[in-house]
Amino acid sequence: MRTIRSKITLTYLLITLLVILLLGLFLAIEIEDYFRDRLLAQLQTETSIIHAMLRESSERNEPQDHIVAYLRAHSNASNLRITLIDREGRVLYESWVPDSLIGSLENHANRPEIVEARMRGIGKNTRRSASTHDDLYYVARFIDNAPFHNSAFPSLQYIRVAISFQEVSHLITEIRAMIVAAGFLVLFIIGSVSLVVARRISKPIVEISSIVQDIKAGNLDRKLPVTSSDEVGRLAELINEMTDKLKADIEQLRRLERVRSEFLGNVSHELRTPIFSLKGFLETLLEGAIDDRNVNRSFVEKAYHHASRLDALLTDLIEISRIESGEMKMSFRYFDVAELLRQLASEYADETAKKQQHIRIVPEQGEILVFGDKERLRQALGNLIDNAIKYCPTGAKIELRAGEKDGKVEVTVEDNGPGIEKEHLPRIFERFYRVDKNRSREVGGTGLGLAIVKHIVEAHGSKITVHSEIGKGTAFSFELKR
Ligand code: ADP
Repeated sequence: MRTIRSKITLTYLLITLLVILLLGLFLAIEIEDYFRDRLLAQLQTETSIIHAMLRESSERNEPQDHIVAYLRAHSNASNLRITLIDREGRVLYESWVPDSLIGSLENHANRPEIVEARMRGIGKNTRRSASTHDDLYYVARFIDNAPFHNSAFPSLQYIRVAISFQEVSHLITEIRAMIVAAGFLVLFIIGSVSLVVARRISKPIVEISSIVQDIKAGNLDRKLPVTSSDEVGRLAELINEMTDKLKADIEQLRRLERVRSEFLGNVSHELRTPIFSLKGFLETLLEGAIDDRNVNRSFVEKAYHHASRLDALLTDLIEISRIESGEMKMSFRYFDVAELLRQLASEYADETAKKQQHIRIVPEQGEILVFGDKERLRQALGNLIDNAIKYCPTGAKIELRAGEKDGKVEVTVEDNGPGIEKEHLPRIFERFYRVDKNRSREVGGTGLGLAIVKHIVEAHGSKITVHSEIGKGTAFSFELKR
């Protein structure tokens, strides 16, 4: 696998190499040009020095061998090749060739520097010498012949100097070597820096991939350190947020799973009690009690009572599972809640009469319009009234109230019964939660009544609240939109 680190380092190195190569090439060419130009300028100066020297010696009528000796010494001292040429191109003097061979030298009239000097006064050229087989720089000067008529070189027309290219080329080689060495140094420095930079960039990514590996394996407890505010830092932050969310979701799922299995356990337990009793009474009857006129009717009645309990329990269970699965559809419209309370009071009149309880409605007359599902609210209020009747003693007072409060309508079911102890209040809306199990069963409770009320009230975007005091009574309230 090509890592990010190696990719970044390699890219840096390639770019650096390219830059160094281009720069080196450019520099080498520039330096060579510079030296060549400087050398040619120097050679040009050299021709005028020799010219001045020759004129002086001609004025002094110096003999030819003096002049030649001087020229030779000068040539040797400065590694210069000095050539004197006449108008026709014949070589008069040549410092690198013995005097005896000068007569056999080629005619120089067509040498490029001589041709150019003839036309412009100065001629320059770089080439391999035919006489010395060496790469040379040549500069030739066309001079005024008149002052030389009576001198040792009466036909002198061109002064030419040349220098071996080798002189320069070893300098250029040295400079090239320096450029290559500097290039390697820069390459090394940039290579090391890019390694460090690449490591810094890739380190958090390596960490992130290790954490993601952990997440894949189900370990959500590791946190990524967020050390920067750049894209990588943001990614680390996002991954941390994601694992937090996943953890919360998994927690929630586990909780729901626990609640579900708890509920299933409760349901089985609740169903067992009435079925067990029902079976018991039926067995006793079958074993002979059916023929005993003193007990048979009461046993059948008891069996019927437990069957009814079973029926009530299943009805509530079906109801609550419909509500919780979202299957129950609400239908909201405006209706008169005061009228609903009056209807409920008369529906429960028989039961209150049995226990000599009294229901009061506030207000007794007039209408209070609210927005809600009338049938669902009838069911919720029915459960509350049913509880009040069940848990209050004979002669108790029950009050059903509807009244405006903060732009809404508050509905309350209040009784002056036994009340509920504080410690139980937060839990009475849970499914199957009862303050006193035996008492609840005795009066035919399923333990689901208040859970259903809570669901219905919440489906109206409201909340059910309870106020209760031991010995004084209990009040359940909720608000409805008007
Ligand atoms: P249940 O079917 O047992 O009545 P609910 O969910 O309706 O179940 O009520 C839960 C518990 O709250 C009851 O078991 C009872 O102990 C208590 N409770 C409810 N309403 C009243 C009330 N008006 N007065 C006293 N206790 C009440």
